[in-house]
Amino acid sequence: MEPMHRKLVWAERPGFQGWVCTECAWVFNPAGPLVGETIDDMKRLYEKQRDEEFKSHVCAEHPRPQKGPH
Ligand SMILES: [Zn+2]
Repeated sequence: MEPMHRKLVWAERPGFQGWVCTECAWVFNPAGPLVGETIDDMKRLYEKQRDEEFKSHVCAEHPRPQKGPH
């Protein structure tokens, strides 16, 4: 079973910012340009898409690069 303690968090680091999973290398990639009548609509659709993508991803399919043995 998937670990259920994974979380969706905002990450900022050099060269990258976006929504990531705390348990694997998954990052949220919006499927396309945001569409909506208003900014609020766009925001709501973005969050819905983000949450659905996060819920449906499988951590085991997004392994983090292994760190060297230090
Ligand atoms: Zn994950």
